[in-house]
Amino acid sequence: MIVVDYTKMNIQENIKRIKETLPGNVQLIAVSKTKPVEAIEAAYEVGQRAFGENRPQEMAAKYQVLPKDIDWHMIGQLQEKNVKYIAPFVKLIHSVDSLKLLQKIEREAVKHSRVIDCLLEFHIAREETKSGLTLAEAERILSSDEWKELCHIRILGVMGIATYTDDREQIHEEFLQLHEIFDILKTKYFSGVNEFRELSMGMSEDYQIAVEEGSTMVRVGSSIFGAREYRKDKVLGDIV
Ligand SMILES: *Cc1c(COP(=O)(O)O)cnc(C)c1O
Repeated sequence: MIVVDYTKMNIQENIKRIKETLPGNVQLIAVSKTKPVEAIEAAYEVGQRAFGENRPQEMAAKYQVLPKDIDWHMIGQLQEKNVKYIAPFVKLIHSVDSLKLLQKIEREAVKHSRVIDCLLEFHIAREETKSGLTLAEAERILSSDEWKELCHIRILGVMGIATYTDDREQIHEEFLQLHEIFDILKTKYFSGVNEFRELSMGMSEDYQIAVEEGSTMVRVGSSIFGAREYRKDKVLGDIV
């Protein structure tokens, strides 16, 4: 049997336990996608402020009803037409994988007179399905004239998702590869740019490996909130 919803105490204990194992320079992003606002409130009560969502409308709905000092992280694939839902408030978009999306984010940022922070997502997994840029694609973007015109966007670093596998060596290699991509971009395009310093890598199953490979942000969902059930009507429902 899958335990779908954790109690408030489960959530709070999980957060404390995970935080204890993270080095001080690694930020915990609590991935609350599909989980009710009560689950987020439970995490908030023990000091958690950074939450990750993968659906813009769901993030916007939760933003409306929850405390305004929460930092909302967009971690899922983002369609251009949906940027508008999160542009007024989003803290960091982890999943930027094209110049067109950057240009759309720029236009929305201008509308709200703000700068929107982003990470470039890279394809590091061996599976075909995982999204993200190759190094060559990212270099094409960062050396283009179009990119130089985007002055309402700051790129803070990179993000990647490793293959879902028991092979720990492979996961190490994939995160190492992302770290190498980060180093190359830092040297070639962001040298002297202080804010380019984030490596968003690691999820429930592999965040310890990611930390060993230099992660600065781990995105942990099910190890905090329990397994997910993908039913729309549950999202804003009760916690237990
Ligand atoms: C869902 C998700 C996570 C969290 O996954 P868990 O295995 O539940 O920790 C992290 N990153 C991304 C991009 C996700 O979509």
